[in-house]
Amino acid sequence: MARIPEHIIEQIKESNDIVDVVSSYISLTRKGQNYWARCPFHQEKTASFSVSPSKQIYHCFGCGAGGNVVNFVMAYEKLTFPETLHMLAERSGINLDEYSYRPTEEEKSISSHLFELHKLAIDIYEKALASPAGKTAREYLIKRGFEEKTLQEFHVGFAPDSWDTLLKAVRVKKIEKSVLDDSGLIITSENNKQYDRFRNRIMFPIFDLHGNPVGFGGRVISGDEKEMKYMNSPETSIYHKSRILYGLHKSRDEIRKTDTVLIVEGYMDLLQLWQNGFRNIIAGSGTAFTPDHARIIRRFAEKAVLCYDGDEAGQKAAVKAGLMLAPRGIVCKILKLPPKEDPDSYVRQVGSEAFSEIINNAVDFIPFLESLINPLRLTPARRSEAVRRLLEQLGDFSDPVIEEMFLSDLSRIFGTDMAVLKKQMLRNPARKESETISADTNRKEQRFTSKAEAAQYQLIQLLINTKETEIRKAAPRYLKQDLFTHDFLKKTLKYILPSMKDDLNITGSALAERCTDNKIQRFIYRLVMEGDAFNNPQKTFLDCLIRLGEQKIKDQLNLISEKLRDSDKKGEYPGELLKDKQELITQLKTLKEKINPDIFKTD
Ligand SMILES: [Zn+2]
Repeated sequence: MARIPEHIIEQIKESNDIVDVVSSYISLTRKGQNYWARCPFHQEKTASFSVSPSKQIYHCFGCGAGGNVVNFVMAYEKLTFPETLHMLAERSGINLDEYSYRPTEEEKSISSHLFELHKLAIDIYEKALASPAGKTAREYLIKRGFEEKTLQEFHVGFAPDSWDTLLKAVRVKKIEKSVLDDSGLIITSENNKQYDRFRNRIMFPIFDLHGNPVGFGGRVISGDEKEMKYMNSPETSIYHKSRILYGLHKSRDEIRKTDTVLIVEGYMDLLQLWQNGFRNIIAGSGTAFTPDHARIIRRFAEKAVLCYDGDEAGQKAAVKAGLMLAPRGIVCKILKLPPKEDPDSYVRQVGSEAFSEIINNAVDFIPFLESLINPLRLTPARRSEAVRRLLEQLGDFSDPVIEEMFLSDLSRIFGTDMAVLKKQMLRNPARKESETISADTNRKEQRFTSKAEAAQYQLIQLLINTKETEIRKAAPRYLKQDLFTHDFLKKTLKYILPSMKDDLNITGSALAERCTDNKIQRFIYRLVMEGDAFNNPQKTFLDCLIRLGEQKIKDQLNLISEKLRDSDKKGEYPGELLKDKQELITQLKTLKEKINPDIFKTD
């Protein structure tokens, strides 16, 4: 296996704009020179995650995550470095065939091990569906009107009624136990016995946006009410229920094209509508709608039609989903089906043309809400309760204009003042709580309180961002390690000085990129993102140097004063100490003369 050479890596980075790539995962808002979002790597309510198009880096001011486009994809997708390069190369049409990449078992990321295991499981379940063991399942699916082609397209399979269908296969393949444990597909009992999670179920593989299999939804065949109709894979490192939308890897292009997404509740609904020609469609996967889902959808479409079951539970679920989507600026409509129907049964009954027609006649979200709750008919106490519950379920507003418009609609249908709604919204415990969540542990360590520490911070900020080579040339001569008292800043200085000596023009991003210490690396990214706003960098450099020099001398003087007091108590003559003291006082006086603009002159 040939390693990918440095110049190709550079080419991959250059051809994958960080704003494009990041915004394919999360939605970014431009503010000033940078783009902002709520950080995908820690929980937060306000956006402290920023992406710089000019510097091609990202940094989170909340948790300290940071890096270039490759680091982002690695962190977000949980891939290894080579895997990420291959993915980005493919994205930008760079041919890496010549460096055909076959990672050794150790080199593979846990994600790719898990994807492989899921592929194996899909294969086994698909074959089982076609085998005699899958007869009942097959008949059931046919009875429900599914065509062979549709089932194949979505890789629908069957987990036979046995404890070790998958287990036998993974034993042959010698897949490591840790991978099995992480996958959620094989369960280890308390007495260390392994068995298949899914048994006697029709299996719907769940894929991520890039088409990697990440989990399964398993459905019982019989209508046995005691058993859960659906069981999904548990949350794993590759299956994040709050981020996965079933079917999106197949429907994304059509959703973009039509700028509309049809949202259904179940896998069967999706398959049935797909088979009937509705291709801009997704389903939730094992969880209620989350703010992340709303954000993902907003990347592909501005309009959504919620095609939920016709019964009361379905209508309530549709309202819940609408309350997540509308605040992101997605125009929602809700499909009205007869009470006993779901999209699957209904499209089979009326056909695709008539179903198209009812999609076109879907009701706007606010009027739907109004007719469902009928607030003006409620007693004041009930009305207040209904408002409170609605506001609790409300997702995050992507911007203040949308918030204003949405709340004004609510205010109209509830006959309540806007200001009251806003106040009520702020009182919402969920909102308040998450606003205070901050995941930063680096921050404490990187707090610079004294003037001397602030000077050390400024010097590093300056060195990293400056384009003036005079300053970088002077740095190793004047920034002695003992001037730095802050441990972390000292470590950072120790890393950057030699690299700068090797290459006076090295950029801050490159300094960060080459750093092997994760904390220092993040810190440098942060400084690059902040940039420097020093009007006169040379003067700043000198001022900081003088401040640190003075501090050092003052510290030494304090030490001497203590010793003097000691010898005074003991009745000794402090001859040497007095001489040292005098020396230091002279140094202090001449410090400013010694540290002058001439230090930048080189011959
Ligand atoms: Zn963060």
